[in-house]
Parts: sequence; C-alpha cells; structure tokens
Amino acid sequence: MSILFRVDVDKPLGHHNLLVKVGSKLSEDLHISVRRHPRYLFHLKEMLRFLNEKKVPAFFYFRLITLPDNETIELLEAGTHSYGYHMENTRSFDTFRQEIENFNKQGFYSDHFTKHGSGSYKLGKYHYPPYEPLKYMEWANKLNLTFYSGNGIAKCKEDLYEKNNDFYSNAFWGERNYRDENYNNIEDFVNAGISSDIIFLTHPENFYTHKILKQDVDKMISLAESKNIQWIREIPNLI
Ligand SMILES: [Zn+2]
Repeated sequence: MSILFRVDVDKPLGHHNLLVKVGSKLSEDLHISVRRHPRYLFHLKEMLRFLNEKKVPAFFYFRLITLPDNETIELLEAGTHSYGYHMENTRSFDTFRQEIENFNKQGFYSDHFTKHGSGSYKLGKYHYPPYEPLKYMEWANKLNLTFYSGNGIAKCKEDLYEKNNDFYSNAFWGERNYRDENYNNIEDFVNAGISSDIIFLTHPENFYTHKILKQDVDKMISLAESKNIQWIREIPNLI
C-alpha cells in the first residue's frame, strides 16, 4: 500500500529566525502578500528540492498569503507534485466559496483542499478557527471538490485507517510535538502503511527549522523504500 505525503504551507517566510518569524506573522495577521520578499517561500523551496531529489511526490496546500511564485511552481512541476487550497475562512459556505474564488482570481485552481488550523487558535486575519470537517465535506460535494484529509492526530495505526465517507480523519504528524505520546515512532507509522493507505502531514517551515523533522522524513523515505511502500501520486478515488 502507499503513503500520501501532505504538506500545509502555512508561513510565507518561514520562522527560522526572528526577522522572518515576525514577517510571516505580520503577513498572516494583516493579510498582506510578501511575495516579492527575497526569502518568500525559501523554506518550502528547500523542502521541494529535497523531495525532488528523493523522487517523493507530495500534496501541497497553499493559503492566499502563501501562493506559489514562479520558482515554486517550477519546483512543483519538476517533482510532479499536486497542490490544492489550504482553507481559512470557513465561517459559512459563502465565505468558503468566496475564498475559493479569490484563489481562482489569482490564477490558482485546484479540486481539493485542506483546512488551516485544528480548532484552537486564530491563525490569520480571515482565519475562522473552528475545525468542522462534516461541514467541509458537504461544501466539497456542493462545489465538486475533494476534502479527503482531516487534521486529527493518530493515536494508533487504526486511527490512520479510520475513514468516514472516504475521508481520512487522522494523519501521522511530522512535528513530534503534535504526535500522540504513545504513538510517535516513525517506523511504526511506516509499518502501518504495509496493509493500508495512510497519510503523513507536515509543514515546510518546521521541516526547514527543525533538523529532527527532516531526519524523520529522511528515515520515513528510506523505510518506505525498504518495505516496498509506494507514494500516492493522485488523490485516491474518494468522492
Ligand atoms: Zn495550516
């Protein structure tokens, strides 16, 4: 079976030093594009180069303030990655649809999306914090989009397999501090992929800032190869 590598692109400038951390936060809180900044998506580009070298395809989800620039698009294409919307303003169906239109107006089109944030914090000017997957499934159906991957934290391998209407509720998080305290070993995660498809979720700013995360991703890739586990290249038939 296979692993789907999901990447939510949250930070326009990353957070690896104080300057870019503040820049990212201001961009999020004021909803200002920093696309022309020389370090724009630098952390993501590093991650893309790494994945491209390893020949691992992934699914990248962008916010309006982290839309890919030309260099990022080239790297996405070089690695045959997929990309979609990382939704923020999920207050109502209308705000959701408006946000999709805003993406489209900027020439960014997709047919799948993920949700930004897991319910607790307001993370951006137009971010609506509650996490309400059932609502998003309904909206996805209305607009002919696919919402297949939730933000839950897997507490055991069965959680990774848990599906409601073809929606994967949980993922194994790359960030160690978001993993369940009793289910946190990367090899256990990869082993779960022997019998069923599973989802790995991470963020490029953390990949770039935290060496341990990059090491875990590297280990996951080697383990997957040794166990003959493939990488999902297309969204499974989930609608
Ligand atoms: Zn996010």
